[in-house]
Formats: sequence, structure tokens, C-alpha cells
Amino acid sequence: MSKTLRLLLGDQLNSNHSWFSTVDDSITYVMMEIRTETDYALHHVQKVVGIFAAMRAFATDLKIKGHQVIYLKINDEYNLQAFDKNIVKLLSEHNFSRFEYQWPDEYRVDRLLKNICKTIAVASTAIDSEHFFTTRNELADFFEGKKTYVMENFYRALRKKHRILMDGDQPITGKWNYDSDNRKKLPKEHKPAPPLQFNNELSLLYEEILKANCKTIGTIDASQFLWPINRQQSLALLDFFATHCLPLFGTYQDAMTPNEWSLYHSRLSFSLNIKLVSPHEVITRVVAEWNLRPAEIEFNQVEGFVRQVIGWREYMRGIYWNKMPNYATLNFFNHQEKLPSWFWTGKTKMSCLKDAINQSLQYAYAHHIQRLMITGNFALLAGVHPDDVDQWYLGIYIDAFEWVEITNTRGMSQFADGGIVGTKPYVSSAAYIDKMSHYCGSCYYKKNIKVGEKACPFTSLYWNFYDRNESKLAANPRIGMMYNVWRKMKPDDKTALLEQAQYYLNNINDL
Ligand SMILES: Cc1cc2nc3c(=O)[nH]c(=O)nc-3n(C[C@H](O)[C@H](O)[C@H](O)COP(=O)(O)OP(=O)(O)OC[C@H]3O[C@@H](n4cnc5c(N)ncnc54)[C@H](O)[C@@H]3O)c2cc1C
Ligand code: SF4
Repeated sequence: MSKTLRLLLGDQLNSNHSWFSTVDDSITYVMMEIRTETDYALHHVQKVVGIFAAMRAFATDLKIKGHQVIYLKINDEYNLQAFDKNIVKLLSEHNFSRFEYQWPDEYRVDRLLKNICKTIAVASTAIDSEHFFTTRNELADFFEGKKTYVMENFYRALRKKHRILMDGDQPITGKWNYDSDNRKKLPKEHKPAPPLQFNNELSLLYEEILKANCKTIGTIDASQFLWPINRQQSLALLDFFATHCLPLFGTYQDAMTPNEWSLYHSRLSFSLNIKLVSPHEVITRVVAEWNLRPAEIEFNQVEGFVRQVIGWREYMRGIYWNKMPNYATLNFFNHQEKLPSWFWTGKTKMSCLKDAINQSLQYAYAHHIQRLMITGNFALLAGVHPDDVDQWYLGIYIDAFEWVEITNTRGMSQFADGGIVGTKPYVSSAAYIDKMSHYCGSCYYKKNIKVGEKACPFTSLYWNFYDRNESKLAANPRIGMMYNVWRKMKPDDKTALLEQAQYYLNNINDL
């Protein structure tokens, strides 16, 4: 009997994949916990534990369904700790005559697997992971010949193609985009629905990871691991979101407040990115909830969510496959600084950054506006090298995989791609942070003070950023207005702001 070895990666836990529709004794699945994957970034401990736990649960489920599975645990003595070494060994030891895999989401792994296929003696094939709405090249085909890649156009095309919230060729309400309704600050006394957390007992797995000496960041309560680790829990989280969070998702999508780590966000990115649920299932469930409760759930809540999942998520993936590997080298502003040391500890006097970083260390999660307008904004104003920024984001978040991390970090957040993903850099002074959050009131620094000991660092760094990048940004039509304000400022005020910024940059680890 000819035998086939099929590789399953840790982010390919799609139980609805066509591979599993039949049970075939000539096929063996291999899953491996390996050091090349634990060590390519300094990951949050919850990310390593969460992925391994989900992989183990998936392997057990496959076995229960009658599939043949080889599972290599992190401390197994016959585990050679790298894809190529393990695959070559298994192919020869078990006399497999074919090797198959699903297309990985990451360029690094894609290249590695293609290289393995060139060196092994047996035939090999790769197929789609059957997860996304779009193919790897769909975005490139869609924008062929265009100078700019406008997300909104791609999003509308996908809504039409997949008939999501549509009435024939038109959006169901006559309007495509409700973004302007989705920028409200949380009222002071408003208490969001407490997040659904799971109580997975993963202490033994955590001990194995400690024994393997994998270097990680962040904290964990492994006896009550809060993230979903299987399909059932992921569907429960989706249900929870649709029932309790969707009614206010859009309204407070950009809001931030201390000690509330997830507000009305779905926290589905981990389940989605390791493919425990599909974006199709997520969209279907959310739209069904809106159809069921149209009087309670305003349309802006649903449209805002759909845009994140079929707009931004698919768009970022398309940009990634279109622009890699060059994308990972882009540094439009030629930024060279290091990340401040407190990015790893949360020990800063700046309330907004303290909260965003501490919750990232505690939960391996921050929501989009914290990532973009607090940590990302600061790193960009401070001129941190995009490689450093990428490494931090790639490690710290439980949902961080390069295809969606690098496009968001290097592209949307750091503008290191010079405007492929975004039309202008996302930077702000204290004014925006105060408008969208409750951080400034309790901060050591004062949002309205521009220079002096208590001056909010965001404000002087903001003007410093525009000043030092004038040659690169002044012609941008979306920014010109800021340069008019800057030019009209009194010379003494400008000098004082630039000196203040320089002081902060020189003492960045003490902020
Ligand atoms: C600097 C930076 C780094 C980021 N790194 C990652 C990352 O490594 N992995 C990741 O999945 N997302 C990343 N994002 C996008 C976004 O912040 C997260 O997807 C979101 O915060 C996940 O939380 P949630 O599931 O509660 O999202 P919700 O707010 O509930 O949104 C629903 C879903 O929409 C999708 N989505 C929303 N925004 C985006 C976006 N900009 N790009 C792609 N998908 C999006 C996600 O799948 C998310 O689960 C990053 C954003 C920034 C600014
Ligand atoms: S005053 Fe400045 S540093 Fe403090 S919370 Fe507000 S924006 Fe952040």
C-alpha cells in the first residue's frame, strides 16, 4: 500500500477541511511542537501554551475520528525540533511514498516547505487551507494596474461577490460604510459586559514548556487558561460575541478605558487565525443575529464587524502575499531607534501606555485602537526601527502570525511601507487619546501641558515627528493641514516643543 504523510501546522486546525472528509488508513497526519516555531520570536507564554493545547486537542479529535496521527511533543526525545529534520526522518522511517501539506499563511514557512519538497525523494503536493474568503493572489489580481490599493474597494467587491449584507448589487441599507458612527468614547459610568473566559486546566502542558526552557514573555494562569483551545469553545465565544457584544461593537470599537481589556471586541482573532473557526462561519453567525434582533442591533454594529473580517483581514493577507518578502525590509522613515525597555515591563508613568502594555503582558491581547493609537503611535513618534516594532507585536499577541501582524504593524501602524496599506501615518497627540479614552485623568503627565516636567510626551513627539519628516510628508494631501498649523506656530513655541521632544527621546527609558 502506498503511504502518504500529511503535515498539519499549528495554525491549520480546520476540522472542516476536505482532507478530513474521509478516513483513509494509507494517510498519516503529522503535527509537531518544535523549537524553530517557539523561538522565531519572543512569544507570549499564553500564545505558546494556547497553540500547543489547541494542537493537542485537534490531534486527539482526529484520532477519535479514526485518522492516523503522529504527534511530536516538545520534549519527545525523537523530536528533532525542526520541520525539515522531522519530515525527512519520518518519511524514511515509515516508508511514506508521498508528502502533502496545506499552503501555510507565513512566507517563512512557505519557503521552507517548498525547499523540503525539492530535497525529498518522494512526490509532494500542497493544497489550499480552505479557510479564507479569498485566494492568496486575489487582491493582486483585483488591483492589477492600479497605483493604490484602497481597502474599501476590495471590501465592497467581496461583499458583492459573497452576497454579504447585499440587496442585489447594492448594499442592503443603501450605504456601504458606517465608520463615522463608530467612534464613540465609553460613557464614564458605563460597564461593558464581562468577557467570556474559559477555565482550561493546562498546568501540565505549561510545565512541559517550562521544562523545555522555551523563552517567553508575559504571565499566565495555566490552571484556568482563558482562551478557547478547541472548536467548541471557539463557537461558544462566537455565540457570546453575537449575543452580548455585537449590539455595541461598532459604537465603542475605538474606545479605550483603564482596566477593561476587551470591551465589546470579539476576541475571536486567535480562534480565527489558527482556523478553529472560519471567517465564513463568523460572518454568517453575526449576520443571523442581526436578522433575528434588528430592533436591538443597529446596522452600524454589524457592518463595522463585517468590514473588519472580510475587509481588513482578507485585505491584509492579500497585501502580504503580493508584497513579501520585500515588505519585511521596508523602512520609509529610516527609523533606527530601539523600543523603550518598558515595552517589556509596562513600567512607565504614561497611563495609556502602562495600561495597554500591562494588559498585553497579562492577557496576550490588546484591542485594535490600543495597538494602533497607543503602542504603535508611540513607537512611530519615537522613531523605533520597524524590525524592533514587528518583533514585539509578533511575540506579544496571542493572535500574532506574520501575515496579519506585519501588514498591520509595518504597514498600517508604522507607515514603513510608505503608504501601501494606509494613506497617511496614524499618529496623534494627547488630544486624540483623551477624546477616545479615560487614561489622561489619572496620568502623571498632563494632556494640556506641552513643555516642562509634566508635559504629555505624545504632544511634543507628535510635532517632532512632523518636523523631522517634512520632506517625506508635506506633499501628502491628507497631512498638508498639519504643516500649515506647524508653520504658523510662533518660532519660540516650536523650538520649545522640539527641545522637549529631544529631551524625551534622550531619556526614553525613564518616561
Ligand atoms: C500594530 C498592530 C498589530 C496587529 N497585529 C495583529 C496580529 O498579529 N494578528 C491579528 O489577527 N490582528 C492584528 N491586528 C489587527 C487587530 O488589532 C486584531 O485583529 C484585533 O485586535 C483582534 O481582536 P478581536 O478578535 O477582539 O477583534 P475585533 O475587534 O472583534 O474584530 C473582529 C475580527 O476582525 C479582524 N480584524 C480586525 N481588525 C483587523 C485588522 N486591522 N487586520 C486584520 N484583521 C482584523 C480580526 O480577525 C478580528 O478577530 C493588529 C493591529 C495593529 C494596529
Ligand atoms: S497625558 Fe499623555 S501620556 Fe498621559 S495618558 Fe494622556 S496621552 Fe497618555
